[in-house]
Amino acid sequence: MNDKPRILLTNDDGAHARGLRAVYDSLSAFADVTVVAPSNQHSGASHCITLDTPLRAHPLKDLPGYRVDFTPVDCVKLALSHLLDERPDLVVSGINRGSNGGQLVHYSGTVAAAKEAALAGVPAVAFSLAQWRKPDFAAAAKVAAQIVPRVLEQGLPPMTVLNVNVPPGPYSDLKGFRWCRQSLQSLDDQYERREDPRGKPYYWLSGAGPLKGNGNGDDLTLLEQGYVTLTPLSLDWTHEELFEGGGEGFLKGLAAGSGS
Ligand code: MN
Repeated sequence: MNDKPRILLTNDDGAHARGLRAVYDSLSAFADVTVVAPSNQHSGASHCITLDTPLRAHPLKDLPGYRVDFTPVDCVKLALSHLLDERPDLVVSGINRGSNGGQLVHYSGTVAAAKEAALAGVPAVAFSLAQWRKPDFAAAAKVAAQIVPRVLEQGLPPMTVLNVNVPPGPYSDLKGFRWCRQSLQSLDDQYERREDPRGKPYYWLSGAGPLKGNGNGDDLTLLEQGYVTLTPLSLDWTHEELFEGGGEGFLKGLAAGSGS
């Protein structure tokens, strides 16, 4: 009898990305890992789904699983509804090339795939490596193999994603693990303005400014200091305090329909 945990592995950098391959190898040591990941690069796809184009799942040649056209969320939806024989115990998304700390969680396809799993009631973890140029995923893959068993053991509350970011560098240089908040620092978007051959302007997102935290122990601050950051993200978007306030100021004098 096979009692290994079942893990669905996905990402937003595509099924052939090195980060996915690295974490596949480290998790396969103790889990049955099936890959369902996008055929192509979908960083920044956030929670996008494909509505007007048929989805196709192509079996991978060298790993168990599929690459799917198109988005990370399409992959998770299709995996859970059709491609997997059994419901997974956990969904792992990543390892992303580049950090997904602070406000980047809202744009990330890596985090969105994990969100989709959590919305479907499957615990999910997103892993990102804060290194874009010449990324070395070895340390992050080792970190994933430490964190994933914990999540399998302890579970996560419903509607929660665990967002993990790993600093660049060798494993021996990591300062440790930190449980922390998400940085709320605004992004400093930089768009480059260019002209096409006919003299008309076009714009290209060229950067999001320095991704720094607010110095108060948030994910981006600790990541920069060399810590692996673990941030529990909530998918319940209702604002507790505002909701509990009863909305009087927003509702006063408003009436609609026959019930008013
Ligand atoms: Mn990505």
